[in-house]
Amino acid sequence: MRLLLVAPPGAGKGTQATKLAARYGIAHLSSGEMLRKEVTARTEIGRIAADYLRRGDLVPDELVIAMLAPAVLEATRSGGYVLDGFPRTLNQAQEAYRVSKQVEGIELQAVLHLVVSRRELHRRFEARAAKEGRNDDTEATFMHRLEVFDSQTEPLLGFYSERGLVVDIDGEQPVDKVFADVVTAVQPLVSEVPGGAPALDSLPPSSR
Ligand code: AMP
Repeated sequence: MRLLLVAPPGAGKGTQATKLAARYGIAHLSSGEMLRKEVTARTEIGRIAADYLRRGDLVPDELVIAMLAPAVLEATRSGGYVLDGFPRTLNQAQEAYRVSKQVEGIELQAVLHLVVSRRELHRRFEARAAKEGRNDDTEATFMHRLEVFDSQTEPLLGFYSERGLVVDIDGEQPVDKVFADVVTAVQPLVSEVPGGAPALDSLPPSSR
């Protein structure tokens, strides 16, 4: 199974991706988490990425693509993946799409869009900042990350909608209810047959 979760900061992407990975035995590829590890380990990527993360700006596409591409390839070979946070710009999506056309059986099958209101996002942000203390979790940075989502990530949904891949999920419900809807949405992809499951847009609308 090959999935992408798209959602504004604080909408529960990471939580749902972790649950999906555990349930279906697929790799959870979180670009934000991978970048934070690079920063902590003070690698070359981490040194460049650190300032972007602190400001809540997006790290340059080339860097993220170079970091993610091997992981996506590897995960494709071993059961699939749920992408959490990548692609995050139209350019990243176009580049990933271009590459996916060249590698058999790597392309996305569904894009799950968690829909959460601004008011609820703000409430969750305050709770998370108190609990985790991530250094990109200041109020100003959070507001900036929302703007970045609107201007740079939201356009992804149009790109993937045109390809029939997007499923909207009500992300304001309790975590387990959100997950139940996520499971229902990916159910048509579960009957993995040799050669891979079909993409969502090749299935009749009634089974999406
Ligand atoms: P996240 O954990 O998904 O909220 O991501 C945390 C931060 O990592 C973001 O605010 C960006 O600075 C950076 N980041 C994560 N994924 C990407 C991506 N695909 N492209 C560029 N920057 C990213």
